[in-house]
Amino acid sequence: MQDSSSPLAILKARFGYDEFLPLQSEIIENVLASRDSLVLMPTGGGKSLCYQLPALLLGGTTLVVSPLIALMKDQVDALNESGIPANFMNSSLSDLEMRRVEAAVRNGHTKLLYIAPERLALQSFRKFLHELDINLIAIDEAHCISEWGHEFRPDYRNLRQLREEFPSTPVIALTATATERVRDDIIGQLGLQDGGVFISGFNRSNLNYSVRPKSDAWERLIGLLESHKDQSTIIYCFSRQETEDLAADLTARGFEARPYHAGLDGDTRRRAQDDFIRDRVAIVVATIAFGMGIDKPDVRLVVHYSLPKSVEGYYQETGRAGRDGSPAECVLFYAFADKVKQEYFINQIVDESEQRVAREQLARMVEFAQLTTCRRRYLMHYLGEEWEQENCGGCDACLEPREEFDATEISQKILSAVIRTGERFGAGHIIQVLRGGRDKRVLEMEHDSLNVYGIARASGKSDLREIIGLLESRGLLTTEGDRYPTLAVTEAGREFLQTRSSLSLPRPLDGGARRTTPQPSTEIQFDERLFEELRVLRRRLADERDVPPFVIFGDTSLKQMAARFPQDSDEFGRISGVGAAKLEQYGADFIAVIQEYIERHGRPDIHVPEARPSRARPERRPGPTFDETRELLSRGLSVVEIAEQRGLAETTIIGHIERIAAQDDSLDMSHLVPDAATMSEIEKALEVCGDEFLRPVWEFLEEKVSYNDLRLARIHLRRGPPITPG
Ligand code: ADP
Ligand code: ZN
Repeated sequence: MQDSSSPLAILKARFGYDEFLPLQSEIIENVLASRDSLVLMPTGGGKSLCYQLPALLLGGTTLVVSPLIALMKDQVDALNESGIPANFMNSSLSDLEMRRVEAAVRNGHTKLLYIAPERLALQSFRKFLHELDINLIAIDEAHCISEWGHEFRPDYRNLRQLREEFPSTPVIALTATATERVRDDIIGQLGLQDGGVFISGFNRSNLNYSVRPKSDAWERLIGLLESHKDQSTIIYCFSRQETEDLAADLTARGFEARPYHAGLDGDTRRRAQDDFIRDRVAIVVATIAFGMGIDKPDVRLVVHYSLPKSVEGYYQETGRAGRDGSPAECVLFYAFADKVKQEYFINQIVDESEQRVAREQLARMVEFAQLTTCRRRYLMHYLGEEWEQENCGGCDACLEPREEFDATEISQKILSAVIRTGERFGAGHIIQVLRGGRDKRVLEMEHDSLNVYGIARASGKSDLREIIGLLESRGLLTTEGDRYPTLAVTEAGREFLQTRSSLSLPRPLDGGARRTTPQPSTEIQFDERLFEELRVLRRRLADERDVPPFVIFGDTSLKQMAARFPQDSDEFGRISGVGAAKLEQYGADFIAVIQEYIERHGRPDIHVPEARPSRARPERRPGPTFDETRELLSRGLSVVEIAEQRGLAETTIIGHIERIAAQDDSLDMSHLVPDAATMSEIEKALEVCGDEFLRPVWEFLEEKVSYNDLRLARIHLRRGPPITPG
């Protein structure tokens, strides 16, 4: 039988997973042997577990340094949901909250303490650290220490000193940045010793990459958003103004979207982020420079509405899609004009070598955008990995392989039409002219009398559109103006006409048979209607607890539920992502929805319904629900009374109390403890059965003590005697 404190046993009991992802087990072993580790894994590779799991096995507290202040609370919430005591300290806490956390950490109960790097500069904080038993230092986003990386943080230089002050404490540094220069920098800067370097493959097999011409970006974007309705989407734009405009346009089209950039005041930004993370708004429109704070595991679509500055940046930004391992789509809209725009800014860079680097990076990015071969292979090669597969099955080049055709004549016709109409019209009008359309505007402008009128009658509209896009990406045409884009012929385009060069282009896709995203083979089959109902439940539970929905269960877990229909806690406990704490907290609620669903629909064969019901949007915005429970608790109310007053289930309230207790040692909860006789029974039972799972305890006590009382007793016993803050 498995030793109950082996990493694998803890993986199942606490995190709800059956097996380790690649390298996790080796890394955890290295950490437990008190050796330093450098972990390079792509986003979604499962880096966090590499320090979270050891934190449970080592005595004392694991210090986690992370620059993502906005995410800290969610990370800590997620751990607490899994029954793991964790806390964070950053500038968002009030003095009182800070003291509470300090007390809880001193008490030795906290397993993981998350901090922002700037805290390390404070003398008082370093003193505080020395009072603790720090067993492991985890450095998340470790590339921030390197000036070669794209997200250098001067505060990360403080880590060097931390290292010197805790010479015998092992360090684990983690990053999704793969370049060798950054890697060497991390090792050097942190002085990682005889450590293991763990590098996993950087291929993100669940991501689908495609590039589309920008000439019809708006219509295509709407199509994409329709096919990803209600799913979390990030759209990257070039400028702050663009994010605002696009978000407004989308909202006017019925797709509620929020802009997100560094120019917004803190409150607006936090609200946008919060609404996104909590599934209240599905679409965020961000500047490329500012997407970092909006990581979310279930982003299903990432759109680059403008050209990224580098392939590395593109990989990181698209990397925010599909962290949970479920399929996600990455679409880049490319126009030659975007390259010109970027060049304009590069020309403003004063430092010469910096300018050269920027130019070089842009050239690679343009190369990627213009590829007609596998995009994944290009990305992997760029990141220093070879990709041998013939067909990756997850990029436009592989999924829509296209032969080239001689496009000389049609290109000449298009360019001539643009020139003859005065370079003042968009693609739609040019196509009308080429096909001999009798639009009002064509007639008004007397474009029907030009010699280019009707010279491409035989070509389909969408084919022409696509060829125009390709001519743009080849730099023969350019789009000017954002709102009312007009086409113009570039220098290279004029030269092409004058020299009568020939040109071949990939054959346009059949206009009528445009694909929707193919589902990569990683997707499991599940009942979409049930999935939606489970999502609604998840959302309600999350609102009640004031946490993001993914903290309760990820999409991957819900999909498994909607495929396997677990109907009792044994079956439910086998779903990936269901650990002991979550089984206990949520099992009954989810099983009830599943059973009711089966009663209504039978246990259906997995089918894909035509239309999915759209996500329910309750009017009520969740209040600071924990504070309310805390407040009532401090007034001495019982669980039953609090539940009644708040209109929430008793189990929900106990869930609150478990979380509050894990974070705050100072609150008096003695009135919740069961009577002394029951307590001593429970204590005996816990000694025999351990306090990890309550079911054996409940059975040991012959089912006489309620789960609620068991949970309250456990809270009390785990906390130890109350301490006074000071
Ligand atoms: P990273 O930090 O590398 O981007 P995360 O630590 O956020 O990745 O993990 C990505 C996702 O994978 C999370 O949803 C996490 O819960 C899940 N995960 C981690 N380890 C495992 C595992 N052993 N089995 C299944 N899922 C896992
Ligand atoms: Zn491919």
